[in-house]
Amino acid sequence: MLTAPVVKIIDSSAVDGPGNRSAVFLQGCNFNCEYCHNPETIDPEGRPESLRFLTVEQVVDRVGRSLPFIRGLTISGGECMLHEAFVYEVCLEAKRRYGQDFSCLLDSNGSIPYDRVLPVIDGVLLDVKAVDESAHRALTGASAAPVMAQAAALAKEGKLTEIRTVVLGNCDEAEKCILRVAERIVEAAGADALRNISYRLIKYRPKGVRKEYLKTLKVPGDKEMVRLERIASDCGFSPVVIV
Ligand code: SF4
Repeated sequence: MLTAPVVKIIDSSAVDGPGNRSAVFLQGCNFNCEYCHNPETIDPEGRPESLRFLTVEQVVDRVGRSLPFIRGLTISGGECMLHEAFVYEVCLEAKRRYGQDFSCLLDSNGSIPYDRVLPVIDGVLLDVKAVDESAHRALTGASAAPVMAQAAALAKEGKLTEIRTVVLGNCDEAEKCILRVAERIVEAAGADALRNISYRLIKYRPKGVRKEYLKTLKVPGDKEMVRLERIASDCGFSPVVIV
């Protein structure tokens, strides 16, 4: 029976995509972001105390308990696409039971193509952490190239729900993220596509971050956050949200 390591399930969340949604967090990630505030979820072999191996049925049952107060579910991580087959089956089964309008989103780092799960998901909340290859590698330990390719591919399919960027003290990289990803989306799907894609600018906060990175990562100023918000709005993303 197909199972996955589930770290936690939040029955109703307002920050994991549009509306109230259940959020399912899976263990294991293929990035190692310096600012990760849940570093205990990175190691695929890691076993945080809350972790349980759950079946597709168990996850879909649990999510169903929150109906009618949620509009869907979001599968997050770690990196949920490391459990691609499980993600596919959960979304397929949730839609079978709760209807095609029950929305299924992924919160994901864009390193793994979504082709297989695309037919059963409604969209992706895509992390764009840096666009310069060297900056992305330094921050995450992985290449930026697949992320930009997934942004374009999802936009083409109308399944890019939101871009998420954690903004660090020097906002230069976040600004490049906004401009470069907007350019890729426009190339792939046209300028109108941006109007249906939200941009979430997440102010870096040191909570939960491993102590070896605390000295080098800086919190950005509020003025800079507002400046980035304007840049993203001017590009055409809608809505743009600062958190
Ligand atoms: S992609 Fe997310 S879960 Fe993975 S290391 Fe980065 S911040 Fe942590």
